[in-house]
Amino acid sequence: MPPNMTKVFNYWGMHDKVDSIGVVTERIVMSRFGVLARHALLGHEMLEEAGGEFIALYHSQLRAMLLETARELGAEARSNAEVVEIAEDCRSLRLASGEVLQADVIIGADGSRGTCRQLVHPQDPEKGTGIMLFNSVIPVDRILADPELSTLIQQDQVSQWAWFGHERASVCFPIGPSKDLAWYFFAPDEGVQEGWNDVLSPEEFAPYVSEAEPRLQKLARLARPARSRMMEREFPEEWVHNTGRLVLVGSAAHPFPPGIIYGPSMSLEDASVLAKLFSHLRDEEQIPSFLYAFQNLREERCQKNRSLDINNVRYMMEPEGEGTERRDTLMRAKHDQGRNVLTGDDEDSNVAQWDHNRELFGYDAEDEADNWWVQWGLLQERAKAAHSEGDTHLEMFSLDVSERISSS
Ligand SMILES: Cc1cc2nc3c(=O)[nH]c(=O)nc-3n(C[C@H](O)[C@H](O)[C@H](O)COP(=O)(O)OP(=O)(O)OC[C@H]3O[C@@H](n4cnc5c(N)ncnc54)[C@H](O)[C@@H]3O)c2cc1C
Repeated sequence: MPPNMTKVFNYWGMHDKVDSIGVVTERIVMSRFGVLARHALLGHEMLEEAGGEFIALYHSQLRAMLLETARELGAEARSNAEVVEIAEDCRSLRLASGEVLQADVIIGADGSRGTCRQLVHPQDPEKGTGIMLFNSVIPVDRILADPELSTLIQQDQVSQWAWFGHERASVCFPIGPSKDLAWYFFAPDEGVQEGWNDVLSPEEFAPYVSEAEPRLQKLARLARPARSRMMEREFPEEWVHNTGRLVLVGSAAHPFPPGIIYGPSMSLEDASVLAKLFSHLRDEEQIPSFLYAFQNLREERCQKNRSLDINNVRYMMEPEGEGTERRDTLMRAKHDQGRNVLTGDDEDSNVAQWDHNRELFGYDAEDEADNWWVQWGLLQERAKAAHSEGDTHLEMFSLDVSERISSS
C-alpha cells in the first residue's frame, strides 16, 4: 500500500488495525539485475511530504480487516449473494437465491468482470501491455535458512529490493508481521493465459533468471510463481448508469493489470471520495450529481496513475542502451555523494519519473471531495433553493451554475 492509501486509513482512525497486519517498508534498494544490490534509497523527505507510509500486507488479511470494521460500524455484509440481475431503473437487484433487494443507489464494486461493469460498458476489449508477471510469496523460514537470502530480510531497515535489467525486472519485499517475502518478476509477454492458475516449476522458471544475481537465482529455486499476462482494459466513458442510480468504483471502473501497485490505492481513494460526497446527502435528488461528481473527480487521476504504474515497470526493464547507461550513472553518482537517488533538482529522466510518483503519494482524496462540495455542490444546493423560492434573478444564476457543474 503506497502512502496515498495508508493515509486514507490514518484519516479513518484505522492506523493501529493496519499496523497489526502490515509491515512498514522503510527504504527501497535498487540495483542492476546482474549485480548485488547496493545503491539508492527511498526518500524519507518524500514520505513525510506524502503524509503516509509504504505498508506491505496480505490482500486476504486486508479484506478481512475491512469487513470486520464495516460490520463494527453497522454495515450488513452478506456472503454467497451473487447478483444475477439489476432492474432497468437500477433501484433493485435480484440475487441467485431469487431474493430481490431494493436500493436508492447501487455502488458497483464487483470488479473488472462483474455485472455492473457489463451493464454500463458491455463492449469491453482488452489489450496486452507486452509484459508478463511472475508472482510468488515465499515463507520467511525458507528465506532465513539461506544466509545469502536472509540478507533480504535481516536489515537495519525493512527494505524493498528492486532490480533493473535488460527486458527483465524484479521486486521483492517482506509482507505482514511474519515477513514472508513477496516476489514479483517481470519479463516480456509470451502470450500465456491471464490468471493465477499457470504455476511454474523451478526448472521452467530457471531460464528467466539465468543472468540474474545469485539471490534472484536462489529465489527462483524456492518460488512456485504464478504466471499471468499484464492486460489492459479501457475505462468506460461513463462510470454512471444513465438512470443516475448506479456507479462503478474500484476495478469495475478502472481495472489495473495484475502485479502493479497503485490499483488498490485508487480503489481506496474512490471509497474515501464517495464517502465524503455522500456525507453531504440531504435529499435523494442529490444522488445523480454526486455520482457524476465522483467520476469527474476520479477519472483523470486513475488514468494517469495506471500509466505511471505500468511505466514504472517499463522503466525498470528498459532494454540496455544509452538511456539506461545514463540513468544508472546518475543514480550511482547520487548514491556515491550520499544523496538519495530519488530526489534531486536536475532534469534527468530518473528524477522526472519519481517526481510523478511523489505527486501520486501526496494526493488527498478527502480534500478533493471537499473542494468539489465547496466549489460546486454548495452552489448547486443554493441555486436549487433559490429556484424553489421563485426568484427569477437567482434562476439565471442557477442556470449559470448548472453549466459550470456540467463542465467541471
Ligand atoms: C492476477 C492478479 C494479481 C494481482 N496482484 C496484486 C498484487 O500483488 N498486489 C496488489 O496490490 N494488487 C494486485 N492485484 C490487483 C487487486 O487484486 C485489485 O486491484 C483489487 O482486488 C481490486 O479491488 P475491487 O474491490 O475493485 O475488485 P475485486 O477485488 O475484484 O472484488 C470484486 C468483488 O465483487 C464480487 N462479485 C463479482 N461479481 C459479483 C456478482 N455478480 N454478485 C456479487 N458479487 C460479485 C467478487 O466476488 C469480488 O469479491 C492483482 C490482480 C490480479 C487479477
